[in-house]
Amino acid sequence: MSHTMQTMRVGRYKITSVVTGWTRLDGGAMFGVVPKVLWEKGEDCDDSNRILLATRTLIAARDDGSRIILVDTGVGSKWPPEDAKRYAVENRKGAIRHALAALDHAPEAVTDIVATHLHFDHAGGMTRFKDEARTDLALVFPGATHWVHRRHWDHALSPTLRDRASFFSHDFQLLEESGRVQFVEGDDPACPIPGVEWALSHGHTPYQLLPVFDDETSPLFFTGDLVPTASHLPPAWVMAYDLYPLKTLNERLALYERVRAQNLRIAFPHDRRMGGARLAIDGKRVSVEEPLLVDGA
Ligand SMILES: [Zn+2]
Repeated sequence: MSHTMQTMRVGRYKITSVVTGWTRLDGGAMFGVVPKVLWEKGEDCDDSNRILLATRTLIAARDDGSRIILVDTGVGSKWPPEDAKRYAVENRKGAIRHALAALDHAPEAVTDIVATHLHFDHAGGMTRFKDEARTDLALVFPGATHWVHRRHWDHALSPTLRDRASFFSHDFQLLEESGRVQFVEGDDPACPIPGVEWALSHGHTPYQLLPVFDDETSPLFFTGDLVPTASHLPPAWVMAYDLYPLKTLNERLALYERVRAQNLRIAFPHDRRMGGARLAIDGKRVSVEEPLLVDGA
């Protein structure tokens, strides 16, 4: 774990982005209809045409110590080695714990976990196997309130044939059994966490729950898989995984409008180079003006 994690201030929160692991997913699937001659530039692509993606957890610690929030938890530790090979899944064991320690917090101090959605590369780190027998599960952060949108939860329990490979119930079912899940309801949900608002997104998967951290001059919007990496900033560079690609496109246009109107900064879940960015928007062209939350290796 790097000890030169970059932190940034957003309102009353100190924010950092931790690389909790790595995966490789098919480059073609990651860029939908965009041909490889366009996307290969700048990607780390292997012999099987898979590109390197980070899985990131955003840590938000409130100044008064009342809240320590994790946004997404990465692939987690439950992958059997044979299955892990398919997606080159690599879990950086202890990454969240080390990052919390570097910020002077114990893992027990985590108060809230936001599960943007329940795909395995975002929700896998919420549970772990208790022992080598790999049967009994435990919550990794048993004291935390886990926030998930109710409609997404319902979808995750009965996904379509097209997206069911992305959900493992052992990542999340225990949350309900242990009473540690807090469902977010409705289409315009209020967020009771101080200094945080909810945004919703439906193109990638229904009812993604995206936290926005308030700041007087420049709030921070966690994009989830609406914009997985900086390479996905062009509105039409939509993943083939998305259930409703045209929705994703329109949601990105709306996000960029909001970036312009509210001077938003954004944070990515999968970019291997940066945890976030300040964007430059010039007509239809959207690019990174300034990388944020860059991990010094
Ligand atoms: Zn996803």
